[in-house]
Amino acid sequence: MNLSEIVDLACTGDLTQVRTLRCGECGGSLRIEYVEEQVAGAVYVECLDCKQRTGSRRLNSAPLWVGEFGKRVETTEIQNRGTG
Ligand SMILES: [Zn+2]
Repeated sequence: MNLSEIVDLACTGDLTQVRTLRCGECGGSLRIEYVEEQVAGAVYVECLDCKQRTGSRRLNSAPLWVGEFGKRVETTEIQNRGTG
């Protein structure tokens, strides 16, 4: 999975999918961030190891995981959390 595919999944995936995402290049854990702007938001994904970073297209609503994990999460952090 390349980083733009990962960003797509981070926009549309369910909690389980987002939780298991890893960097396609190095397998590192990811920081996933939802940034709200005036009319729309966007998701940014950054690898904590190789520092690749990509942003999504604009979204009309926040992705599902924002309600569960908050606007800024690291995949290692949510993997260690239970399913609730
Ligand atoms: Zn990486």
